[in-house]
Amino acid sequence: MNPLEYMAFLLLRSLRRLHLARLVRIGAKRNFNDYFKGFDKNEAVRGIFGDKTEEVLRNLKVEFMGLFGYMGVDNTDGHLLVNARYLENGDKTDIYLDVIHELCHVKQYMEGKELFDGRYEYVDRPTEIEAYQYTVNEARRLGLSNERICQYLKTEWMSEEDLKKLAKHLEVGC
Ligand SMILES: [Zn+2]
Repeated sequence: MNPLEYMAFLLLRSLRRLHLARLVRIGAKRNFNDYFKGFDKNEAVRGIFGDKTEEVLRNLKVEFMGLFGYMGVDNTDGHLLVNARYLENGDKTDIYLDVIHELCHVKQYMEGKELFDGRYEYVDRPTEIEAYQYTVNEARRLGLSNERICQYLKTEWMSEEDLKKLAKHLEVGC
């Protein structure tokens, strides 16, 4: 199994449990490690947290949200926010890359960085560019084409112009 298949497998396995969990309670903070398996062994994640990887992931909380959005980091205590519906129905590669992206924001939060610095547009914000850089590097390592990476970068709320800006910062030809 290649690393991506392995991660997808682990995610799918967690999702089955998540489905049960959703019925019980949503919005509670849960342990990241109970739902996202194997990320402590993941090289991209180890590239973010280094020797602290196990410790950070062990302490990281995740909150499953309802209807809107994809994933994010709560800027009051640095826990992960995940749309449960996206996790169930979204593209597994996108989800995997989003986790890498958000874990970079977790690191930034721990460093005391302002995650939503309003002085910058989203696509120009240094914290976003750093997080996207990790995901693009990982996407390339997995062998994703430029076209597929651009598809990943483009979200429905991003204009073509913004996509071009973001892609330029990341040196991806879109
Ligand atoms: Zn981000």
